[in-house]
Amino acid sequence: MKYMKKKSVLIILGTLFGFNVLAWIGVFQLSRAGLEVTFFDVGQGDAIFIETPLGHQVLIDGGPDVSLLEKLGDEMPFWDRTIDLIILTHPEHDHIAGLIEVLKKYQVENVLWTGVLKDTAEFREWQRLIKEEGAKIYIAQAGQQIVWDATPDCRGSHPRHLNPRHLEILYPFENLENQSVKNTNNTSIISRLVYGENSFLLTGDAYKSVERELLGLAEQLDSDVLKVGHHGSKTSSAEEFIKEVSPEIAIISAGQDNSYGHPHQEVLETLEKYGITILRTDKDGDIKIISDGEDYVSNIQN
Ligand SMILES: [Zn+2]
Repeated sequence: MKYMKKKSVLIILGTLFGFNVLAWIGVFQLSRAGLEVTFFDVGQGDAIFIETPLGHQVLIDGGPDVSLLEKLGDEMPFWDRTIDLIILTHPEHDHIAGLIEVLKKYQVENVLWTGVLKDTAEFREWQRLIKEEGAKIYIAQAGQQIVWDATPDCRGSHPRHLNPRHLEILYPFENLENQSVKNTNNTSIISRLVYGENSFLLTGDAYKSVERELLGLAEQLDSDVLKVGHHGSKTSSAEEFIKEVSPEIAIISAGQDNSYGHPHQEVLETLEKYGITILRTDKDGDIKIISDGEDYVSNIQN
């Protein structure tokens, strides 16, 4: 690995209005061979860490406890105390708790979440911490794009010709800020990470009803890797949705011997029916996928 001095830009675009919401310059970045996406084994919960070739770091959800910090410590150099963007898909314990620990320990530059309310002590702590952090806060809505490494003058080992490279927000369709809902699973931010020819669909804990609402997006759903909804619960993974996404790899983030019985046999059967390779954090541990924009490899060989 070598360190290179580069200018790079990561931009969150609000396509509805057609202007840049955010642009920032990072000058000293770690050069990588490709895009790395790690699905951490954080027990019963989700925590997904994305590192771009020029070293931008995005963390989607934080799992249920402090164990995330150790995972991040293994992935990030010891001197790196900043994370460019954290995304909270929805404020349930198994997604928010680890992010609270991250806010305490790291400097977080940007936060993207739905703004949905929840009446718990840890939710109030989340609200307090993101305010104190001084991070820029964005309310998620379909149509937004987060674009990285977008500078025209960067020279390095990453494949410059590849386009697109972004994270697009597919759901929620509307701004949910300050709304109270009984069960926030179905308000989950659903996003699609695109790097050249490779794509990852990340669905939080959204249920089948939302998956069916997304079917109209057709080829925008088509992805190589699917983070299976709601830890493999049968509340998610409608067959027509799985068919439309048609992933090669399905990743299930669930705790070993969890009390919910995740993943559900019905979901496993649906995935098997379409010949999809299933990787599970409860069996495989941390799952890392590295893409060079044309092809990808996984650390788990099944
Ligand atoms: Zn969950």
